[in-house]
Amino acid sequence: MSNKLYASYDQEVNENGSEKNDFAFKVDQFGDIKIMRYQVPGFEDLSLNQKKLVYYLSQAARCGRDIIFDQNMKHNLDIRKSLDNIVETYQGDRQNDDFNSFMVYVKRFWFSNGFHHHYSSDKFFPEVSEEYFKELIKNSDKAGFPLSKDEDLDEFSNTLIKLIFDKDYYPKGTSQDSESDIVKASAVNFYENVTKEEVEQYNKSQQHGNDETPVSHGLNSKLVKENGTLQEWVYKIGGLYGPAIKEIVKWLEKASGVAENQNQKNLIEKLIAFYKTGDLKTWDEYNILWVNDLQSHVDFINGFIETYSDPMGLKGTWESVVNFKNVEATKRTEIIAENAQWFEDYSPVDQRFKKDKVTGVSAKVITVAQLGGDCYPSSPIGINLPNADWIRKEYGSKSVTMENITYAYDQVSKGNGMLEEFVYHEEDRRLSRQYGTLAGNLHTDLHECLGHGSGQLLEGTSSDALENYASPLEEARADLFALYFMMDDKMPELGLLPNLDAAKAAYNSYIRNGLMTQLTRIEPGKNIEQAHMRNRQLIAKWAFEKGQQENVIEQIVDNGKTYFVVNDHKKLQEIFGELLAEIQRIKSEGDYEAGKNLIEKYAVKVDPEIHKEALMRFKKLNIAPYGGFMNPDFKLKEENGEIKDVEVTYPSDYTQQMLHYGKEYSFL
Ligand code: ZN
Repeated sequence: MSNKLYASYDQEVNENGSEKNDFAFKVDQFGDIKIMRYQVPGFEDLSLNQKKLVYYLSQAARCGRDIIFDQNMKHNLDIRKSLDNIVETYQGDRQNDDFNSFMVYVKRFWFSNGFHHHYSSDKFFPEVSEEYFKELIKNSDKAGFPLSKDEDLDEFSNTLIKLIFDKDYYPKGTSQDSESDIVKASAVNFYENVTKEEVEQYNKSQQHGNDETPVSHGLNSKLVKENGTLQEWVYKIGGLYGPAIKEIVKWLEKASGVAENQNQKNLIEKLIAFYKTGDLKTWDEYNILWVNDLQSHVDFINGFIETYSDPMGLKGTWESVVNFKNVEATKRTEIIAENAQWFEDYSPVDQRFKKDKVTGVSAKVITVAQLGGDCYPSSPIGINLPNADWIRKEYGSKSVTMENITYAYDQVSKGNGMLEEFVYHEEDRRLSRQYGTLAGNLHTDLHECLGHGSGQLLEGTSSDALENYASPLEEARADLFALYFMMDDKMPELGLLPNLDAAKAAYNSYIRNGLMTQLTRIEPGKNIEQAHMRNRQLIAKWAFEKGQQENVIEQIVDNGKTYFVVNDHKKLQEIFGELLAEIQRIKSEGDYEAGKNLIEKYAVKVDPEIHKEALMRFKKLNIAPYGGFMNPDFKLKEENGEIKDVEVTYPSDYTQQMLHYGKEYSFL
């Protein structure tokens, strides 16, 4: 299971009522991407020890950067080192169109941690000729290329160009195409020389029938067939990715020395033990300590965690987020957490699939101080961990809303014209401006804090029963839980929303996004692959079809432009409830066939006419549909070798940050 929430389309490109901030949030735009910065308000108010803790954990967050490149595709690191070398040492003209196009490619490569699009997972290409690329290589410092022994520059150059330019070479990062062998068809570096069937058999052989506390098999390893036998290459010191993990551990050790309390110290040391041994039982023990640590002000994620990128849904990509609590905004999530049992009891799912007793829902709003690995530069806006079902059931989960990230998105997307273009009624635009941000934040809180944590599996149901359909179904379940309750009178009663008009704004934007605006992220002729996009279309399309007779959602064409308008929000809430009940049943019973049918019927295929129209209307607005973030820097202020303070600064040159990380934080 994977529990990370990304900004929905409307969050990445919306327009809303929050106040304008003078800080330059947006620093770059290229391809379909905008680069932003986030502020770290409240850093100055941390104690010196807390500041040091943030500093050490941030260093650890940077040290795993190479890992994610290599996990995404086994040649990515060599390519990145080559691109960095060209950018730094190329002796030719840097002012012409070719060089600019080359730089767009490099920036995209850095952004995606490799040459597959971070969202669609399709391979992308430089818009320069192979000849020009050869010129770039020839006129750069030869010593800076990662040539293997007895390889000359020409050979190297040819290999590199084939890797980058050949359309049939590693075309897809993670393939979800159910027609093909998704293990073979995926470029991700989790498997070598094995078929999907072999992986499935191997995974089965690793499961022990009645284990109530199963470890996350395969989470931290690559499965390789060598000389006819399957073996796991484990990520650990002395194992795969050892040199990078050693650096991470070095900084974690320093962090442990300034931990805020004994529990935090214990959990950091447990994580270090995991990195030294690769033992998944230790990983679980770490997660239990981590989920129980509610006292610490500074907190972090660091490890092989989310399994979205593995077509088989087992291998964890490396990521890190360093943060501290936003005490004021956390009051909102505390109300939600305090009422978790009420939500579980009143959820529209079958009694058998509900938890009698909701344990340890903890939720907080955080201020992000550093992003790393799979969370950088493309950052989620909310995270709910740990992922192991049995730990969640027994010890609860920790859920965070990353509000300084959402805030930066909001600031950048002001007045971009989306509402004018895609919203039909002026009244709906007004609702969106007035309540968009509030409703968006609350949706994230409900999704993370309650949605993922709700419900339970029937006894005997395996947590990986839904296989490659698990991620979109899990995201749909969490979204539906949030959507269903947003329209409940309980919201104004608890003071979470001023009134139900705010919920209307959330419904309008969800449907608009799921049926239309998110399609602007998909290239013509392509299907939807990404889990969150699949879940959003699944929900919106299913609701559209279900409410067709009563005209709950109306498709209006005016002046050649298509709009989707919600006419009956109360009825739509019921429909959301019905789908939530069905998806919970699918998860609780492990009904693979039903899950597959829902996804394949509603979530994958794109309406070609609507798609074309959405792309055309969107293009005129000149908005980059995706966003990501540069990290702030932390500088130590030392006197006589003693750290007196830590200062935060906000660099604004994306290229410099990437080159800097490539130089100082590359260990593989
Ligand atoms: Zn989620």
